Amino acid sequence: MRRAVFVDRDGTLIEESGYLDRLERLVFFPFSVDAVRVLNHAGFAVVVITNQAGIARGIVREAFVEEAHRHIADRLRAGGATIDGFYYCPHYPEGTVEQYRRTCDCRKPQPGLLRRAAADLDLDLARSFVVGDRWHDLAAGHAVGARSVLVRTGLGWKDEADPHPGTVPDAVADNLMDAAAWILEHA
Ligand SMILES: [Mg+2]
Ligand SMILES: [Zn+2]
Repeated sequence: MRRAVFVDRDGTLIEESGYLDRLERLVFFPFSVDAVRVLNHAGFAVVVITNQAGIARGIVREAFVEEAHRHIADRLRAGGATIDGFYYCPHYPEGTVEQYRRTCDCRKPQPGLLRRAAADLDLDLARSFVVGDRWHDLAAGHAVGARSVLVRTGLGWKDEADPHPGTVPDAVADNLMDAAAWILEHA
């Protein structure tokens, strides 16, 4: 079984841009490719885990989310970095699109997507890490025994200032590259 680093998408791997609905609005951080490559070389599976309630809200089409993920994968591959899987939750309990309007077990802080990825990719959750800019990212990791790093990019600087007593990160890092360095030191 491989160890994984579960990386949040918006605000962690790419810039937070509200509901991302066009490729022109998809902006990489300058360190994204290097951070993923460093984790690849250390033997981690790198898996993107993302809440995409914009689908249930009728703001973003599911086909676009998949297109954006192909675009991210291509861009990383061009820099020698690999994402082992993309997993997204399209649901939202108060969504407007009938098909996706529900309470599910995969919208973070629920750990459903991590469990699904672990089953698909043979991952050892208890020896894995979660990196994200929101408390719900960390909580999803803690629910499966993974360690967590909060990054200050995206909305992380806000969430850092508004601690959640039940969800204490194992580390706080300036960005995904610093988080990767912390993980390599503590793995
Ligand atoms: Mg995020
Ligand atoms: Zn879901």
